[in-house]
Amino acid sequence: MGRIIAVSNQKGGVGKTSTAVNIAYGLAERGKKVLICDIDAQGNATTGLGIEKSSLKYSVYSVMIDQVPAKDAIVATKFNNLYALPSSIDLAGAEVELVSMPRREKILLNALLKVKDEYDYIFLDCPPAIGLLTINGLAAADGVLIPIQSEYYALEGLTQLMNTVKLVKRALNPNLEIEGVLITMYDKRALISRQIHDEILKYFGDKVFDTVIPRNIRISEAPSHGVPVAVHDKRCRGAVAYEQLVEEYLGRNK
Ligand code: ADP
Ligand code: MG
Repeated sequence: MGRIIAVSNQKGGVGKTSTAVNIAYGLAERGKKVLICDIDAQGNATTGLGIEKSSLKYSVYSVMIDQVPAKDAIVATKFNNLYALPSSIDLAGAEVELVSMPRREKILLNALLKVKDEYDYIFLDCPPAIGLLTINGLAAADGVLIPIQSEYYALEGLTQLMNTVKLVKRALNPNLEIEGVLITMYDKRALISRQIHDEILKYFGDKVFDTVIPRNIRISEAPSHGVPVAVHDKRCRGAVAYEQLVEEYLGRNK
């Protein structure tokens, strides 16, 4: 049975998409069969994997709103073992359309249950808001992976996210766990980065990955080429860090 991991933090620009794409790629490279499900209307994970949105017949919107089977909307990426359930811009409207649907919090879960067995891991790249799409992501997930950017306001909003996780666990998905907390865009020379790191450790304890992702320009360049950072520049610090994260993740989940 595959494991579904929601990559979530309601703050934008903290490294959710970069983390989803790069960890998924690393696992796929190690022979795991991996699906990235892009539930953000911005579709950055979709384009970051080199998928041309205009060429697609279906998207996660078709699956959630029009009941198209997930297997019909999933596409192969150009990378071995790595598949995508792409986003499209109409997902922006889904947040409103979902409100009046029956069992609206479990629509993604029910769609993914039919393909879950076929993958080792399914990563959900969540939007930067706690709305019905994120709730659907958390309701479908076995674990939530929280990227936190090391900057001054990093912890702001985290209480809200943790409360949401608690609520979803209680009301919809008792199995939901914190998969891990990842510090991103770390600058080891900056005092603030070290202070934030300490605070996050205090708050989340051993849920925090030992691996931290440094601020690295290569990570931000890669999506414009439609590739993960390891394909863009295998030796850069960003690629090495995500590689190490994949090792640590696999080590933890043996
Ligand atoms: P989110 O999905 O949380 O909005 P992204 O992964 O899209 O965050 O990252 C936000 C921006 O920062 C993007 O332009 C991305 O390329 C860039 N970025 C992400 N991680 C890093 C990093 N470690 N170093 C430098 N830039 C990064
Ligand atoms: Mg994103």
